[in-house]
Amino acid sequence: MTPTRTACEALDAADPLAGLRAEFALPAGVLYLDGNSLGALPRGTSERVRRMVEQEWGDGLIRSWNDAGWYELPQGLGERLSPLLGAAPGQVVVCDSTSVNLFKVLGAALRMRPGRRTVLAERSAFPTDLYIAEGVTSLFEGVEPVLLPTAADLDRLLDAEVAAVVLSHVDYRTGELLDMAAITERVHRAGALMIWDVCHSAGALPVEFDRCQVDFAVGCTYKYLNGGPGAPAFLYAAERHQADARQPLSGWFGHARPFAFEPGYAPTEGVRRFLTGTPPLLGMAALEASLDVWAKVDLHAVRAKSLALSSLFLELVEPLGLPTVTPREERRRGSQVSLRHPDGYAVMQALIERGVIGDFRAPDLLRFGFTPLYVSYTDVWDAARQLAEVLDSGEWRQERFSRQGAVT
Ligand SMILES: *Cc1c(COP(=O)(O)O)cnc(C)c1O
Repeated sequence: MTPTRTACEALDAADPLAGLRAEFALPAGVLYLDGNSLGALPRGTSERVRRMVEQEWGDGLIRSWNDAGWYELPQGLGERLSPLLGAAPGQVVVCDSTSVNLFKVLGAALRMRPGRRTVLAERSAFPTDLYIAEGVTSLFEGVEPVLLPTAADLDRLLDAEVAAVVLSHVDYRTGELLDMAAITERVHRAGALMIWDVCHSAGALPVEFDRCQVDFAVGCTYKYLNGGPGAPAFLYAAERHQADARQPLSGWFGHARPFAFEPGYAPTEGVRRFLTGTPPLLGMAALEASLDVWAKVDLHAVRAKSLALSSLFLELVEPLGLPTVTPREERRRGSQVSLRHPDGYAVMQALIERGVIGDFRAPDLLRFGFTPLYVSYTDVWDAARQLAEVLDSGEWRQERFSRQGAVT
């Protein structure tokens, strides 16, 4: 029997994470199921950013590089993120974007595997990962990316020519979760390095870089981590590789003596050598505020609720008959559900007009993200009901719902 709204209210009353919703400033009348694309605004963010602008910048001026700890922020934020990523201290820095960080770690990986000629990536990966793989390999004579039809084809193509493998832990379209430990081990057996993109798993489920012996990883902080639009990304480099890793974007922030202003590059010790230039401090202030919320959160509770929410949604929308591309098996599912509809774009626009915000991914996917810090069981029930009404009424057929903006 499908759960009633009353049953969902009971689940909310017993939810150990329910209190965290008060940490977020969500607008009234909105059911937000797009925190997998842009996380919601934590209540503490405005104040933290204002403090940096008015006191640290306005009053402190250049003195704040030392006095307000600006210089240390990329590593300081990395240390605060590390527990969410299963990383011991000294292996994570916050800097640049996911795309730029992938360029850096892939470049470093290729230098560590000279003579090997390919980088494996999945054809359906988030395209920026493929574009970056094209860009980096083009700088290495004779090296090129090879695209896997699916992640399941890895074993067939993993040979002694492979320098590195780049995969998304959770697929941005289907929400499929890959087995990080097993895949990393297979890649190592072939002598290659493993790079994970965890944009859709950081903050959605416990990630375990150290336990899985990951070599390098990248991810963004503006999705499940709620760092804010365009918030800086992070980069993980396993300690065992740091001394050998030479990343190609060798800028002064990664130099051993940046304020000696020497003409030659000499990388600093540790993960800080992956920094390039002056960090975007205002974005880092916003990320700091979101990490204050994460400091109160048990990620295992987040994972348990995330699966409960996505399972509930799958169950509630089952009668609508829309095919799903999201695995039903929980251990293979991230924190989203994607449903297919040939007019998915218009259906999503009609849903958004009703205050249920998800998103659309071409060609035909309605995507719903479940962020356990601020989405309740009742929200899921209400969202499923609204989707049913949009489909039953056919209101999505109105012409205005088919007009596309620049960002879907
Ligand atoms: C969101 C996302 C990115 C985004 O990269 P940016 O450089 O921040 O624009 C990259 N990879 C994956 C898998 C993503 O989901």
